[in-house]
Amino acid sequence: MAAVADELVDLVRAFTAKEIIPLAADYDAADEYPADLVEKMKELGLFGITVPEEYGGLGLDYSTYARIVEELAYGWMSVSGFLNTHFMGCFLINAFGTDAQRAGFLPRMATGEIRAAYSLSEPDAGSDVAAIKTRAVRDGDDYVVNGTKMWLTNGLHAGLVVMLVKTADTDPPHRGMSVLLVEKPGGEPVYGGITVSRQIKKLGYKGIETVELHLDDHRVPVGNVLGGESGVGMGFGYMMQAVELGRINISARAVGVARRAFEESIRYAQERHAFGKAIAGHQAIQFKLAEMGTKVHAARLLMQDAARKKDSGQRCDLEAGMAKLFASETCWEVCQEALRIHGGNGYAAEYPIERLYRDAPLMIVGEGTSEIQKIVIGRRLLEEYHI
Ligand SMILES: Cc1cc2nc3c(=O)[nH]c(=O)nc-3n(C[C@H](O)[C@H](O)[C@H](O)COP(=O)(O)OP(=O)(O)OC[C@H]3O[C@@H](n4cnc5c(N)ncnc54)[C@H](O)[C@@H]3O)c2cc1C
Repeated sequence: MAAVADELVDLVRAFTAKEIIPLAADYDAADEYPADLVEKMKELGLFGITVPEEYGGLGLDYSTYARIVEELAYGWMSVSGFLNTHFMGCFLINAFGTDAQRAGFLPRMATGEIRAAYSLSEPDAGSDVAAIKTRAVRDGDDYVVNGTKMWLTNGLHAGLVVMLVKTADTDPPHRGMSVLLVEKPGGEPVYGGITVSRQIKKLGYKGIETVELHLDDHRVPVGNVLGGESGVGMGFGYMMQAVELGRINISARAVGVARRAFEESIRYAQERHAFGKAIAGHQAIQFKLAEMGTKVHAARLLMQDAARKKDSGQRCDLEAGMAKLFASETCWEVCQEALRIHGGNGYAAEYPIERLYRDAPLMIVGEGTSEIQKIVIGRRLLEEYHI
């Protein structure tokens, strides 16, 4: 297993160097969906890394998945975004789906034939997930769904949207929520009662779509409630377990982006001269590099620790929260320092720092903001150290 994992990580590193790095700036500038890259990722088997072998995947662990995400993000952060919501969907179906759901979805997901989007957020509910309003009402063999979902990454090209909806009015509200496996043709903006109502223009994270999705009396078969009848009302808890994986993904991509910014900077600092010597010879620059290198290393260790805990099957919201908080804030800090080290060239689109600088802030917002991570971490630490 370890040898297969190492081989795959090496393969992905080579793929990133050959196929992603040379094209990233052009795709980013055009904000173009990289269809060719997605096809090559399918050929490499990257959409099935953690899917069990019996369903056609590679059956690898989340630690390997995180290493692969780091490598892809090193080349272009958007590419790691194709995997995140997809693997949250694979995790949910594998962990909580019925036998029929596992057999029906996972083989097609492992090949990338269908890719998954993950939908919690709404226009008026992001951090406060329990405030969602999208409602599914049972009508015979279907649920009829109405509402507006927001910020769906991969929301246009996905063939499956794993969606949290309200199925009952309860107190507290999260007990009345379920997860629907909403199928649609990938790439089609309108299907049944679904309309991809807009693609959101973003600061960075280009080339991958983030959309608003409107549901107007859209019918979903009752067989598509995650977990079947016994999954009704369990959706909030299911989604929170997938969020642990999403936070590991964000930590890994933050490490990838930060490592790239650090490596670009340490090279540039030895090439660029000022006041008669390489700027790396000035102690002020060395101190920056020292802090950047140390924090990138620490972020990777936290990310790997969280992934190992997820692999063990244990609850890992504390570790994933710590990794996500530290890695995302580190990434943003390292990108700012990289811009300073590059001087004017850090601000120029010919150098990769400008893109990394625009991509980095997504990590401090996506999968829960830093404030929300601190709430989760604080709550869990107080449980652990309760007197
Ligand atoms: C590019 C992008 C892609 C995304 N992809 C997806 C996706 O695929 N699927 C999906 O479901 N969502 C997705 N999201 C949504 C993302 O998860 C939310 O934006 C995020 O959780 C924050 O929610 P919000 O934007 O509603 O901010 P709000 O919840 O409105 O928060 C605004 C501010 O208030 C702070 N705040 C809120 N509550 C508290 C509190 N209790 N204490 C202290 N501070 C607080 C927040 O930290 C933040 O600083 C995406 C977002 C972006 C930007």
